Amino acid sequence: MADDATPRRQGFGTRLAHMGRAPLRERGFVNPPLVRGSTVLYPSCEDRRATAKRRLEQVLMYGTHGGPTHFALEDAIAEIEGGTRCQIYSTGLAAVAVPLLAFLSAGDHLLMPDSVYGPARHLCDTLLRRYGVETTYYDPTLDEGGIAPLFRPNTRVLYLESPGSHTFEMQDVPALARAAHARGAKVLMDNTWGFHHFQPFAHGVDVSIQALTKYAVGHSDVLLGSATVATDADWETLRTASTTLGQYASPDDCWLALRGLRTLKVRMEAQEAAGLAVARWFAGQPQVKRVLHPALPGAPGHEIWKRDFTGAASLFGVVFQPRYSEADIFRMVDGLSLFGIGASWGGYESLALPTTNFITRTATSGDLGGPAVRFHIGLEEVEDLIADLAAGLQRLDAG
Ligand SMILES: *Cc1c(COP(=O)(O)O)cnc(C)c1O
Repeated sequence: MADDATPRRQGFGTRLAHMGRAPLRERGFVNPPLVRGSTVLYPSCEDRRATAKRRLEQVLMYGTHGGPTHFALEDAIAEIEGGTRCQIYSTGLAAVAVPLLAFLSAGDHLLMPDSVYGPARHLCDTLLRRYGVETTYYDPTLDEGGIAPLFRPNTRVLYLESPGSHTFEMQDVPALARAAHARGAKVLMDNTWGFHHFQPFAHGVDVSIQALTKYAVGHSDVLLGSATVATDADWETLRTASTTLGQYASPDDCWLALRGLRTLKVRMEAQEAAGLAVARWFAGQPQVKRVLHPALPGAPGHEIWKRDFTGAASLFGVVFQPRYSEADIFRMVDGLSLFGIGASWGGYESLALPTTNFITRTATSGDLGGPAVRFHIGLEEVEDLIADLAAGLQRLDAG
């Protein structure tokens, strides 16, 4: 322990290696056991009643309330994000949907960034609208003064996602959160890109949402989500809605996410460095108009990223020169041998996804100045990825 009275906070890698496990309580095995179950038995009726009264705590009540494997993952995610309590969901999308249902009621108004994850927009435009919640989409780059006039007396939630899906706009989270809190609105944020590199609760967020499907799991084989809060009142709102809606995730999947967390730091560091190397390479190619990577100096939102984030995901956009057609872009991407064509990200393998004519924008133009492709960089060697991409750029010009 250091000389000053406060113990030194251990490094992230150290904490990842030790969180959520107690080997000597588990008969010596390094990892916590995988516990499956629906029914939980009690020694007496009185004991069962007493447990039910503590439903907001991590108590064993019934399978849907979670068990030891869920609790270990809940604790790990809450610690990583700097919150107090965490609810695990079966997908990232469920982790978006349930907090919105928890904090909104019929007659309420919701502010959504125009760059929000597409299925979240679909939820607002369909189910939430049908249930009487009105959504206004806003330019994600608005500042505190710019967003102020969009609040109405019934605005209950300001939703954030930084950087935005596909277009990578950075949001000034502390300023936007100030504007929301001054008007009594809750701040919900999709923090999947930032993950441990952005501490939501230190920047004014009330509910932090994660698609654990991405880097936490890290191997493209499990879907999982989480929502984390920092106050007892927010926990009661979130937890009550989650159990009311029967939200649950398989303990097998939670166990795999816990396993993924042990290597999260080294995977993310390697992927961050590789992602930046590929992004920098793209920025120097004549076929490229601009690169949408917040950690790249000069890129849109870089100053906010530098101020608020300690690192970056390996997911970014590349905007090609407007002379290329969609057919040119498809020819380039189809011929890549190391990049899969598909949704999701955060796994060990690289992906490429053309985004032009695929994203919806209503509050901003969404015109990036040319056709765009979203790249996810995995754990392959950077030189191999760049060789594959260089051949792809040649195909662009061969059309
Ligand atoms: C993937 C993703 C989600 C949804 O996660 P799933 O587990 O695929 O449902 C939510 N938000 C963002 C930003 C994502 O990229």
